[in-house]
Amino acid sequence: MTASEVLSGGLRAIDTMTAGMTKVTAGYLLDAPRPTLVECGPALSVAAVIDGLRELGMEPGDLAYLVLSHIHLDHAGGAGDVAAAFPHATVVVSEVGARHLVDPERLNASSRRVYGELMDEVYGDCTPIDAARVRGVADGDRLDLGGGRFLDLLYTPGHAKHHIAAFDADAGALFVGDSVGVKMPGMTAIRPATPPPDFDLVLAQRTLDRYRALEPAVVYLAHYGAVDPPREALNEAADRLRLWAETAAEAYAEHAELDHVTETLGRRFADEVDVASDDPDAGRRVALLSGYRSNAMGLVRYFEQRAEGRTAT
Ligand SMILES: [Zn+2]
Repeated sequence: MTASEVLSGGLRAIDTMTAGMTKVTAGYLLDAPRPTLVECGPALSVAAVIDGLRELGMEPGDLAYLVLSHIHLDHAGGAGDVAAAFPHATVVVSEVGARHLVDPERLNASSRRVYGELMDEVYGDCTPIDAARVRGVADGDRLDLGGGRFLDLLYTPGHAKHHIAAFDADAGALFVGDSVGVKMPGMTAIRPATPPPDFDLVLAQRTLDRYRALEPAVVYLAHYGAVDPPREALNEAADRLRLWAETAAEAYAEHAELDHVTETLGRRFADEVDVASDDPDAGRRVALLSGYRSNAMGLVRYFEQRAEGRTAT
């Protein structure tokens, strides 16, 4: 049996079993006349998601939409396989990233450079999706889920320039991908995810402000699950992002070297992982998805681009 969990408002979380661990990346299935899956995790573990959907009674023709918060492979890598298993599903993704799912050669190649050995151990290559089945969306677009229910799509850059969020206004449920950060079992705080190549601090802060103005009833992270209560969680995410960026900026001012920034972040934020946790994967999960080196690389790159006047803000 695949692990799936009933949440409020006819929603289920399907554990994608990313990297063979529980509670790394969630897929969220919205039970509506047009059933919709938000996120599917990487290609290498997507069989768990497809099995999970089938166990929930989804026939091949049933899935209407697969919504991807962004095209990083820990979210979108399995999209081609889900599309093949559910041939009526439309893959919904930011118009900024859509073409990379139709022709994933560049996405796979750049991911291989970033992930190294993990590409073959954890992620796997994204398979191409027929262009007719990929819908690139912009801010303000909405999906008709049937029965008077809609899913509003928001363009929410910062973590990546191809990031969107999805808001189910009836349930007040906001699906934020990685734009709020990560909080998985064994973590004591919401940790920002600031990876290269296009993390942008100002855009990330604006995205958080926008979420606060929506006043969601519940906020679902991709990694992993609901953060509660939502207002406090969004405030915490903004505070932690500021703290990470300040810490990285001070370290970078001391020594403009990636190793120094990485080590400084590691010392300063080690307490975000509960060392007393009896979960053996607590440290591995966060190292995989929001590690010090990756976050340092994204922040340093942002500082350098901003100094050269090459950021969007
Ligand atoms: Zn992610």
